[in-house]
Amino acid sequence: MPKKTKKEIIRSPKGMHDMLSGDIRYLERIIDMAKEIAEFYGFLPIQTPHLEHAELFSRPLGEMSEVVEKQMYTFRTKGGDLLALRPEATAQIMRAYSESGMNSWPHPVKLFYYGSFFRHENPQKGRFREFRQFGLETLGETDPVTDAIIIKIFYLILHELGFENILIRINSIGDKECRPYYKKELANYYKKKFNYLCKDCKRRLKENPLRLLDCKEESCIELKAKAPQMIDHLCDECKTHFKGVLEFLDEAEIPYMLDNYLVRGFDYYGRTVFEIFIENSESPAKEASNEGKENNHEKAPIAIALGGGGRYDELMAILGEKILPAVGGAFGLERIIFEMKRLGLQPRRVAQPRVFLIQIGSTAKKRGFSLMEELREERIPVGESLSRDNLKTQLNIAAKIGVRFALIIGQKEAMEGSVIIRNMDEGTQEVVMQNKLIEKIKAGLKK
Ligand code: AMP
Repeated sequence: MPKKTKKEIIRSPKGMHDMLSGDIRYLERIIDMAKEIAEFYGFLPIQTPHLEHAELFSRPLGEMSEVVEKQMYTFRTKGGDLLALRPEATAQIMRAYSESGMNSWPHPVKLFYYGSFFRHENPQKGRFREFRQFGLETLGETDPVTDAIIIKIFYLILHELGFENILIRINSIGDKECRPYYKKELANYYKKKFNYLCKDCKRRLKENPLRLLDCKEESCIELKAKAPQMIDHLCDECKTHFKGVLEFLDEAEIPYMLDNYLVRGFDYYGRTVFEIFIENSESPAKEASNEGKENNHEKAPIAIALGGGGRYDELMAILGEKILPAVGGAFGLERIIFEMKRLGLQPRRVAQPRVFLIQIGSTAKKRGFSLMEELREERIPVGESLSRDNLKTQLNIAAKIGVRFALIIGQKEAMEGSVIIRNMDEGTQEVVMQNKLIEKIKAGLKK
């Protein structure tokens, strides 16, 4: 491997990025809202490690899945274990359920999480190699209301953040009884079109024909338009289950669209699958869409996928454990931030300083240093520039921030234990003793 140049070393690796305070204010607003709603619905927090045994993902996600096939960061440890940076959380949460004895908890077990995930993808708008997700999982329940609650919470989070035109695309991909028949039909259909398939799909056809419906290649998207649909092959149980989910969505007036070709990237899904979009006819961000799905809907709106999920009743069995019905989903947080900024939605508000502390001279600096803490304990947002000594510089900063009062401590005030309160709007000043200061500021700020 050629050595990196000095310049390359101080650049983040491809697809990785720093998140700075501007974006973090959005992130915090999303997480605060998501936590509040998830906790209201009885979900408990969980944090899982960033590293796992690679097989925890490759088995349930499917060796042929895009993520395992191309995107998983794996490495061998010095001890010889094959580990992976987590590309998603669901398999981890199943592992945690089994390992942490959650089978003895009251069921269903409802969990939420957020954090970084890693996929070695081609970076583009809305697609990174390290990205953040917020997710929900309900373990140990088949009732369709659990699927609907997951979808409803995702919907509510977006709605409460101020998003309009939220659209859920939903499908049922059947269970292990009826899906195999559909897969066969699908394989027969695609075999006849073999020569038109992309290189990857030619290979995928043998392993899992469902995966072809998820292909992003233009030619394969075209072929999909006439492919058989799962909905026509659902067994009675799956049909009833799907109908149940849709009825709850209707009850909650959640806008959804049946998408008969929606499959998800991972093998472990069964029955309900869904994706969440913001409909946006003028969106310049189509390329950021997870799927850009041109599906069977004549006029599919241009939309960006903010999240997705589904039911995965077979996952635990794939991991070699007792069967555990479950449903869940995840939001891509960078994508929500991007859309919030684009649509002018509000980030988390941080209390702006309404008072600014100014000190002149070394004794005053020490007084100011302690006074900051008194003001913090009183929850008075205060700005400072303790490292500066010049009065004019500090006054300028205070004016720039737009505070109501400047608290000025000079040599004289430091000696006698007083503070000058300067009203920045009126330009008036008043000297108060420090023991009366808090009272005075609070009264002044109330006016
Ligand atoms: P998935 O885990 O693939 O079902 O993805 C769930 C959501 O995570 C997607 O709808 C995206 O919003 C987001 N997401 C997935 N992959 C990426 C990525 N590489 N970069 C940014 N967001 C992503």
